[in-house]
Amino acid sequence: MKKAQFDIPAFTKNQNKTQTVLLVEQLKKDEHILNFIKRNNCSIDLVEKYPIKFNKWLDVKMKCENCPGLNSCVQPVKGQFQDLEWNGLLTPVIRTCRYQVTQNKEVAHMVNYLVCDMPKHFYNLKIEDIQIRGESKDYFDALLKVVDWLKNPKERGLYLYGSVGVGKTYIAACAANYFARKGKKVAFIQVPDWISRMKNCFDADDTFTKEISKVKRADFVVFDDIGAESVTPWVRDELLFPILNKRMEEKKMTWFTSNEDFVSLENHFRNTKQNDQEEMKAVRILERVKALSNEFQIPGKNRRNQG
Ligand code: ADP
Ligand code: MG
Repeated sequence: MKKAQFDIPAFTKNQNKTQTVLLVEQLKKDEHILNFIKRNNCSIDLVEKYPIKFNKWLDVKMKCENCPGLNSCVQPVKGQFQDLEWNGLLTPVIRTCRYQVTQNKEVAHMVNYLVCDMPKHFYNLKIEDIQIRGESKDYFDALLKVVDWLKNPKERGLYLYGSVGVGKTYIAACAANYFARKGKKVAFIQVPDWISRMKNCFDADDTFTKEISKVKRADFVVFDDIGAESVTPWVRDELLFPILNKRMEEKKMTWFTSNEDFVSLENHFRNTKQNDQEEMKAVRILERVKALSNEFQIPGKNRRNQG
């Protein structure tokens, strides 16, 4: 808890005393002040001694009264407010509001992400919070299988594929949060973005090596949107292959999301040149993907831009 600084204007004898007397009278009747006095087992005389401090405290408190949530916060720092503490001295302190405390708890698991490319609004997703009302039976059945996998993880992960916007990333984010909440180390990689970042830090030896090592050793990894990246031999053979190979060897839980099924992902990895070597390398990387995951179609329509 941080100490706060109230901005108390100088109070001189020349100032309007009647106003102060009126203020003190009002404060002494206020239920919040009375509660404060009772709670802290102190004397009401304190209000006479520190009317400005109490008035300011009340001001701040009233701003929080009836607040529906963090998005409506009117305090200078969202989710924090200045409070008063009685410890023999009347001390201003900064506190975190109940909404912020709840939110902090909801995203506490984020410390377990070694790499996190998921959008911020996915941080508190939970599979059990997915609304099934109005969903198709196919989607519901798919969700049940996902939940079943999470409760009883198999050696092979899930390769969620399907059309754009059906909710593959959403489900994979729920899974990643599920494991992060259980204290597992997790990496959620948005493949095209991550590859661009890796290209940019290739020369910064340390950053590059550390990042690769995180993805190799994480307990659970989601490769989100694999197949949407532009493939070069370096991306396929030097970047992705060693990671997938290592995770396969160590039987580490790995999921993918993609718009492509296994067959079109293999074509995607064939690159532009048609020769036997390319063919072999595409087969080789797909073998790793297949060893790590089972193809699993997510049914449904594009949910983007739905009201
Ligand atoms: P995909 O990865 O399949 O392209 P996303 O997971 O990005 O699709 O989902 C598309 C949009 O639909 C996102 O805005 C996401 O928040 C929303 N969405 C996905 N699944 C659900 C769901 N079960 N309930 C509510 N919104 C969802
Ligand atoms: Mg997606």
